[in-house]
Amino acid sequence: MSDLARLTLDQVHGLAMEIFNAHGLSEDQATAVADTVTAAERDECKSHGLFRVPGYMASVKSGKVTPDAAPKVHDLAPGVAQVDANNGFAPLALKVGREPLASKAREQGIAVLGVVNCYHFAALWPETESLAEQGLVAFACTSYMPCVAPAGGTKPLYGTNPIAFSWPRGEGKPPMVFDQATAASARGEIMIHERDGKSISEGWAIDPDGNPTTDPTAGLAGAQLPFGGYKGAAFAMMVELMAGALIGDMFSYEAGAADNGDGGPSKGGEFMFAIDPARCAGGGAGGDEARAAQIAHSNAFFDKVMEQDGARLPSDRRYEARKRTPTEGITIPQSLYDTLQQLRAG
Ligand code: NDP
Repeated sequence: MSDLARLTLDQVHGLAMEIFNAHGLSEDQATAVADTVTAAERDECKSHGLFRVPGYMASVKSGKVTPDAAPKVHDLAPGVAQVDANNGFAPLALKVGREPLASKAREQGIAVLGVVNCYHFAALWPETESLAEQGLVAFACTSYMPCVAPAGGTKPLYGTNPIAFSWPRGEGKPPMVFDQATAASARGEIMIHERDGKSISEGWAIDPDGNPTTDPTAGLAGAQLPFGGYKGAAFAMMVELMAGALIGDMFSYEAGAADNGDGGPSKGGEFMFAIDPARCAGGGAGGDEARAAQIAHSNAFFDKVMEQDGARLPSDRRYEARKRTPTEGITIPQSLYDTLQQLRAG
């Protein structure tokens, strides 16, 4: 028997919905999380696809997350919106916050969204990419639980604290999107290496005694390292401040202290901003001409990147996967498939 199970994207979504319904998620919560998980599988972002479903459900079973939470939007200022996720998962709160953020950005030129009281277990590119598809420049970041040591330290303090940035490339071209942990690797990647019995790369983690390690188990028990030494650590610190203190939510170390250890997502906030590029070019509210010039200018720049052998744009790998998976389907380890089948029973 193959150790891989093959599913169509419809089967991925359907399986996720069945599991979420069996665990009492409201239709809105279930659909938003299933959409996010399916998008991750579609784009071959394995560490945020079906792999995350057992964690999502652990946090419902333990009573940590409110399965039928209804997020509420607050209009804090002309350029500032907030979504209180009301103890629910992030995908629905982000879905609800997208339009207020986009319309404020168009009205003011720039706008900020703070999502608070949410449980985040996903990649960030879906939220920035969807804003760039509407012609906006977008940024997002979120903290997590303490797992990354500060520069020079050996104890976990920062989360893996991803940052995502999207840039619209105009008609017929998907946005440029990068989305990366400020840790040398996402924690999910180390967990997948542990599951698959593989070593992790040097520079990803230190063991509990502070020594460099390529053993995923020792790395998970010790501390992850920021990318690029103190430079990445500064980005991780920025994320703590923006997604924590700025929007009135927790730092990663506070989220860690509040967490019940059920293996699911921790509570926290997400910070986003969106910019209407036409406003920045001085083109006024319509700004069609200014926008066309900006797009042509930035596309010429992207061409310069791609004319170099071996270079590609961040997100091109995902877009290539997105072309294939609707017909080819996706695979997951049979052991994960079996776990998901058990979860269908509630
Ligand atoms: P990767 O290192 O795999 O990729 C980071 C970015 O670099 C991606 O945009 C990727 O694009 C791009 N990229 C990779 N290789 C190249 C290349 N050769 N040339 C140009 N661009 C390249 O991501 P991470 O492991 O750091 O993070 C994975 C995910 O984990 C992210 O989506 C992040 O949001 C998520 N995460 C979520 C957390 C949470 O708490 N919710 C915590 C930490 C991480 P492409 O995708 O096209 O390869």
